[in-house]
Amino acid sequence: MDNINDLKALLGTPRDIVITTHRNPDGDAMGSSLGLYHFLNKGGHTVRVITPSEYPEAFAWMPDAERITIYDLDPEYSEELVGRADLIFCLDFNALDRIDKLGELVGPAKAEKVMIDHHLYPEGFADFVLSDTSASSTCELVFDFVHLLGQEQELDDVIGACLFTGIITDTGSFRYSTSPKLYRTVANLVELGVDDYKVQDYINNSLREKHLKLLGHCLNNRMEILPEYHTGIIYLTKKDYEDFDIQRGDTEGIVNYLLKVKEVKMAAFITEQPTIVKISLRSKGDFSVQEIARKHFKGGGHQNASGGFSFQPLEVTLKRFKALLPQYKSKLEATTV
Ligand code: 5GP
Ligand code: MN
Repeated sequence: MDNINDLKALLGTPRDIVITTHRNPDGDAMGSSLGLYHFLNKGGHTVRVITPSEYPEAFAWMPDAERITIYDLDPEYSEELVGRADLIFCLDFNALDRIDKLGELVGPAKAEKVMIDHHLYPEGFADFVLSDTSASSTCELVFDFVHLLGQEQELDDVIGACLFTGIITDTGSFRYSTSPKLYRTVANLVELGVDDYKVQDYINNSLREKHLKLLGHCLNNRMEILPEYHTGIIYLTKKDYEDFDIQRGDTEGIVNYLLKVKEVKMAAFITEQPTIVKISLRSKGDFSVQEIARKHFKGGGHQNASGGFSFQPLEVTLKRFKALLPQYKSKLEATTV
């Protein structure tokens, strides 16, 4: 961020600030938003977090999660907050269409916009940009941002627990996107008093019986391994959503089970939603699912974790996904993990 000094000056007096993040917020979206919220609160600003849609129950423990405004539930209040904000922080997303209708408010809002993000190919909608695609998470970048402001003395265990949450979820508990710098950041967070065991317990051991039953169903009845393409697929039908009473967030992490198969280098989780078919992609090594999400499913994301969607029926989308595999076969074969 080369104009950091202008932003420092802006933050020099108390401001009306909105922090927003992507729809279906995950641990990184929640952690970066609430971490930054607690930091800016300490600076005397008036801060509100707005998420486009509801957040999973697994993050309800996060300090002040209950103060979050959810656009879907409260569009008018959200509009008011965005309208009067001096500054809008956009965290863990890089294109306004990732925040649905909220994007139509944020785009033209009078506020200065700050984007902090680690996804590929950022859109140029913000006045201040901290974008680093090599960062593990937006939480790691919020930690860097506080240092860029020269206010690291303001970091504390509450901010730390929020930032640690996104680092844990986006790295799959230190399995991907790690770096020496990330481990130093985490050491710093633990020194601030973050109870790393407790946070990991909140995040990794928060399932209910119905989640394990759903996982069993996915693995027993909805999984297909295509060894010749090093690809695994799990899909869920609309009826599955009814039968297993699947709510937002309940399917989190299921796609990763496919990667536990030694030969599998690409994993696809394809689900029939009320109006679209959602595609979640994961990969190992240097095989990029970002390209597949972007070219074929109107989406994007990271090299090893991307997503998109299709307006075609589930059956057709599944067929279309499988029909893509021959053209990626040699790349998948060549990918080393
Ligand atoms: P997930 O599979 O967990 O929904 O998403 C994995 C990654 O892909 C996330 O980092 C997310 O930003 C990106 N992603 C998921 N769905 C979409 C989408 O519809 N559009 C874009 N641009 N990115 C997506
Ligand atoms: Mn993220």
